[in-house]
Amino acid sequence: MDIHEYQAKEILSNFGVAVPTGALAYSPEQAAYRARELGGDKWIVKAQIHAGGRGKAGGVKLCSSEGEIYEACNALFGRKLVTHQTGAEGKGIYRVYVESAVPIDREIYLGFVLDRTSQRVMIVASSEGGMEIEDISAEKPDSIVRSTVEPAVGLQEFQAREIAFQLGLEPGLIQQMVRTLQGCYAAFSELDATMVEINPLVITGDKRVLALDAKMSFDDNALFRHPQISELRDKSQEDPRESRAADRGLSYVGLDGNIGCIVNGAGLAMATMDTIKLAGGEPANFLDIGGGASPERVTKAFRLVLSDDNVQAILVNIFAGINRCDWVAEGVVQALRELQIDIPVVVRLAGTNVEEGQKILAKSGLPIIRATSLMEAAERAVRAWQNDLTQNTKMRAV
Ligand code: GDP
Ligand code: MN
Repeated sequence: MDIHEYQAKEILSNFGVAVPTGALAYSPEQAAYRARELGGDKWIVKAQIHAGGRGKAGGVKLCSSEGEIYEACNALFGRKLVTHQTGAEGKGIYRVYVESAVPIDREIYLGFVLDRTSQRVMIVASSEGGMEIEDISAEKPDSIVRSTVEPAVGLQEFQAREIAFQLGLEPGLIQQMVRTLQGCYAAFSELDATMVEINPLVITGDKRVLALDAKMSFDDNALFRHPQISELRDKSQEDPRESRAADRGLSYVGLDGNIGCIVNGAGLAMATMDTIKLAGGEPANFLDIGGGASPERVTKAFRLVLSDDNVQAILVNIFAGINRCDWVAEGVVQALRELQIDIPVVVRLAGTNVEEGQKILAKSGLPIIRATSLMEAAERAVRAWQNDLTQNTKMRAV
């Protein structure tokens, strides 16, 4: 799960990371009021969206009067900001963050990521802040400092000092940098983050180390341990199909094809998508309905898959271990009756209670296309989608 910049700054600040003073606003009037409260004569108005690259896309504006704040806000609120990270559709701006502008001497890149090779948290830093890390690694690879943290002892002071020295910070700034690094690491590990990125981390004219931008992502599977983080979820920034799925406890990723997939288990879902492609089709989604899927859950899954207008055939592939084929079959029958589905539905069941499951499908009298192997199921789904099977559908009705 991603959060907004202002939320990440509040979290990091609680862990001892210094951030500029700022305030959130939901309207231009509120932004102007917030700027007056902050005082000073220069402010930065920043669109709050779940994506970077805002600066280049016009989502970060320097203002020196109340009039300019209104002007900046009117250009942002209610619009969609398209950056190189949002995709062509962009992300809606419903909140802006107003900060006191600070004079910048130097910009540093700082990131904390999970490195799968070393199975450790890796700190990535560069003296070339302000640029995207991808560009830094392409253009100035030598400026990148990497350091992995031993989880048993956490980020040690000497290690943090070493990073600060490698970035070429002057002695007077080392202690502030160590505090920043340790704060970020503590936030990362205590809150089950998957990413913390501060770009840029700046050295101000008056020799302070400040996080001018902040990005944090969290491990969805650990959110149950952090209700205060879960509350920060902003559905306006998510793919509506994916947030509907998350609300229903289903793991869904929307894709561009025509064959909707309802599968239990992430591995089987991946294999199903591969097999559909092998059979000449394109999957419309990844969907893992999980173990112990009740008929209600299966119906919900159908509803979700059908909410995508591109879906022209559905493939249900269940390998029941914890699951029970009879429950899934009941769910399929219930869904087909309730939702009046008029596209071909292919069902392949295997595992626990498979005979009962097949009987339920057979007794229903519904035009369900059955298959025994995954390959056969994928081929039938693809053929059904290509309409070759439209006539056969009725004949095969079980
Ligand atoms: P991003 O483009 O989405 O990563 O947004 P950032 O928060 O990184 O802002 C983009 C750029 O705006 C930064 O790299 C800075 O150069 C500039 N910027 C942001 N806040 C300030 C500020 O307080 N003072 C000055 N001088 N520049 C700022
Ligand atoms: Mn940035």
